[in-house]
Amino acid sequence: MNALLNILNFIDGEFVPSVSETWLDNFEPATGAVYSLMADSDARDVDVALRAAEKAFPAWSQMPAAERSRILLRIAEGIDNRMDELAHAESKDSGKPVELARTVDIPRARDNFHFFGTAVMHFASESHAVPGQAINYTLRQPLGTVACISPWNLPLYLFTWKIAPALAAGNCVVAKPSEITPATAWLLADIARNAGLPPGVLNIVHGLGTKVGAALVDHPSVKAISFTGGTKTGEAIARSAAPRFKKLSLELGGKNPNLIFADCNYEQALQTSVRSSFSNQGQICLCGSRIYVERPLYERFSRDFIERVSALIQGDPLQTQTQQGAVVSQAHFDKVMAGIALAREEGGVVLTGGKAFKPKGRCAKGWFIEPTVIEGLAPGCRTNREEIFGPVVTLQPFDTEEEALALANDVDYGLAATVWTQNLDRAHRMAERIHAGVIWINCWLLRDLRTPFGGMRDSGVGREGGWEAMRFFTEPKNVCIKY
Ligand code: NDP
Repeated sequence: MNALLNILNFIDGEFVPSVSETWLDNFEPATGAVYSLMADSDARDVDVALRAAEKAFPAWSQMPAAERSRILLRIAEGIDNRMDELAHAESKDSGKPVELARTVDIPRARDNFHFFGTAVMHFASESHAVPGQAINYTLRQPLGTVACISPWNLPLYLFTWKIAPALAAGNCVVAKPSEITPATAWLLADIARNAGLPPGVLNIVHGLGTKVGAALVDHPSVKAISFTGGTKTGEAIARSAAPRFKKLSLELGGKNPNLIFADCNYEQALQTSVRSSFSNQGQICLCGSRIYVERPLYERFSRDFIERVSALIQGDPLQTQTQQGAVVSQAHFDKVMAGIALAREEGGVVLTGGKAFKPKGRCAKGWFIEPTVIEGLAPGCRTNREEIFGPVVTLQPFDTEEEALALANDVDYGLAATVWTQNLDRAHRMAERIHAGVIWINCWLLRDLRTPFGGMRDSGVGREGGWEAMRFFTEPKNVCIKY
């Protein structure tokens, strides 16, 4: 058809074009150019994929856990073996620094399969005795065919975070990666096939959320939907899934506070705050985009933070020394730039950044934004309440613990929060009272895959990780035996 790479659907163990045989452009954010095409699927492709999944379900769900485990572990190994190729593909597709993909995204995708490939060997159900009368035991059975829909910011990392537990629990999956970043999902299909995953157990349908995603959510044979993405999309999914009583796990947006008390370990707080603000160009749902600093430390922190942020190396994401790559798309670039303009209108003062960044050479037409730090905004303004999801943070001083807590909770979201203090009592008090599903004390993004992961309020419903995920992807059935 043309010289561009064609990203195909993976259905029933085969790579196939969409039924319509039409294609969508796939851009390289660092250059702004189209570098591949992907299948532009619709409800017909979803239907074929779901039929393949239903056909595969009886054998997959009844396969001994040890055998399922072996296949998932082989997928983990396949990811590990192709680490450099996957990291390069992720960087090219999303604009993230290749070194970040190599050290965070792809190892984590491997670990997701490794973790749930071993979890399935230890997944046990409860029993409840009524002494002298009866015993209850609970079966945890796979649901059938489930949908996994993931976003563009951590493409393979979040895609596998859903698929691995769904498969481990014995379900068959129809998955849709973001149409903005389809490349590593396509490579994963090849890895899964080589690992011996039977046809139809994992199906990957590429295309637009409004066509493929919506068709999946609406389809009567989908028993559960695991979704990560924006709050508005989550709302639409919840509305559409509710009348069919589908199980839903919704991991949505965030506007996370980063609270820095004067008694913190200063160097750790400073260094980690640069990371928690700007990793992946601030396009991580867990990034701390509102930084609150106790007043005695404010001037010093502000000065040192700006110095470190200004020193971040921005440029071609495929260069190993690059620390700040491109944002993911033209549309997202426009959204983030509009967010910066709004901050200025609201009275914010840009301390560093605030402009598009124009590298020379290959990336001259890419979507780059300078890491941006803004101060002087009122707590309740839109910039401090709405998710920007880019390389933009706000800085604000506070005087008391109560004020810090009120500021932290002054948003509709509740995904994550970070607290920096050496005062143990205060750390516990804050952890108890902050409205967020994930609290980090004196650290950020320190992940243990066994812990419940997810948010409250507008950040979603349900939790992923560990047994939470295995429980989500199974239906409990209680059996009561009288004796
Ligand atoms: P979107 O909500 O736009 O998209 C997420 C996924 O849903 C994509 O695959 C998208 O497809 C698809 N989709 C879009 N519309 C529909 C629909 N009507 N029905 C079904 N699926 C649909 O989010 P983004 O991709 O823009 O991701 C960024 C958002 O994700 C941010 O808000 C961020 O905070 C959140 N996020 C949350 C995390 C968490 O753990 N809580 C982690 C990471 C990100 P398409 O790409 O084709 O539009």
